[in-house]
Amino acid sequence: MDSFFVKCPSCGAQNKVLISKINSQPKCGKCGSMLKILDKPIDINYSDYKKEVLDYKGHILLYLWSPT
Ligand SMILES: [Zn+2]
Repeated sequence: MDSFFVKCPSCGAQNKVLISKINSQPKCGKCGSMLKILDKPIDINYSDYKKEVLDYKGHILLYLWSPT
């Protein structure tokens, strides 16, 4: 894997970013906004599942749990 997808925080476009370019402050190819590279896990809930998981084009590692 030499690249991964990053969702633009401004327009929501999925941008393919080369791993070798992570530290060069990549920008969205659609709107030019700075892309935020996640460097740690994020917590999501049911309402974010489609947006954060199903709509993501790349591979995702999920850790699922239930409070019950
Ligand atoms: Zn954008």
